[in-house]
Amino acid sequence: MSQLTILHIETMIVDLPTIRPHHLSMAVMRKQSMVIIRLFCSDGIEGIGESTTIGGISYADEFPEGIKLAIDTYFAPLLIGQDPRSINSIMSLLDKNISGNNFAKSGIETALLDAQGKRLNVPISSLFGGAITTALPVLWTLASGDTQTDIDEALKLIAQKRHHTFKLKIGSKDPDTDVAHVAAIKAALGRDIRVTVDVNQAWTEAVAKRAIKKLQAAGVDLIEQPIVKSNFDGLARLTSYFEVPIMADEAAATVQDVFKLAKIHAVSVIALKNAKAGGLRAMQQQAAIAQGAGIALYGGTMLEGSIGSLATAHLCATIPDLQWGTELFGPLLLTDDIVKKTIVYDNYALQIPEGPGLGVELDMNKIEKYKRN
Ligand SMILES: [Mg+2]
Repeated sequence: MSQLTILHIETMIVDLPTIRPHHLSMAVMRKQSMVIIRLFCSDGIEGIGESTTIGGISYADEFPEGIKLAIDTYFAPLLIGQDPRSINSIMSLLDKNISGNNFAKSGIETALLDAQGKRLNVPISSLFGGAITTALPVLWTLASGDTQTDIDEALKLIAQKRHHTFKLKIGSKDPDTDVAHVAAIKAALGRDIRVTVDVNQAWTEAVAKRAIKKLQAAGVDLIEQPIVKSNFDGLARLTSYFEVPIMADEAAATVQDVFKLAKIHAVSVIALKNAKAGGLRAMQQQAAIAQGAGIALYGGTMLEGSIGSLATAHLCATIPDLQWGTELFGPLLLTDDIVKKTIVYDNYALQIPEGPGLGVELDMNKIEKYKRN
């Protein structure tokens, strides 16, 4: 291969307001702070990536200011001078020298994949064996904090043919209040509309057992991460106890986590996320383990903007049986976007753009407007 190197890496934090306050068990979001990565190569190609988390430092070990600092201080010196086509070699160099920091690593990997896709004039999905579909089903999260507002929001979105599955973020209130909220929404939307809940680890196993019993009776379709992420055995007990499927999200962070969950049949579904896995290559490995174990798959979100959401979408599009669809609605939760041609959502699905790499371009005017100084 001819001499080709990474010349320079630029990172910035971009703050975009949300369309409404987004209530989670650990935080209320009024903006999303995304770390945007620009990776410049000596052949003139620029790869872009995104490392985003939820609610500052309340959700994960990493946080926007820390991700930027880690990339600028520790990642960039390792990356500069490397051949950007050698993605496996670069990522193992990072793993050898940098412990953890999977959110930061995922954004760098996305930028490398975007650059390589542009170089070869193929979408990122082609670097993973090719897309099976051009559109992915996308659910919507109802998290206004008010039951009637959530019902009105859902009915409007069903009428617009934008979503037919809704996820409710619960766990911050008393469990009986949460269950009543969910049951009222499920009853209002009816049998044909799927309703799932995400507890974000908020319950003890005992509380989970009582609450899931009532949620199952109310017709809820899926229970996501009801208990603390470290309690794999507890997830296994809940999975064997209930008919309603239990999904691992925070528990299924790394490839090793998915293997351990699969080994003890701890869950029926796994949420795949680029950021927690440390990149799309790891996400593909997680999917393979889950498929081998008969565990269903779901394309999760870290509430990324368009760049991060499309990275996950390109990998999800290569998975033959993504039984639970995706929640790649992040860009729809934001009041504005930083890419030139925004993602099209219609017919209950995200339409994956056709261009090379991620298929989107940064809008530098918007970056200037929202970039943190
Ligand atoms: Mg979740």
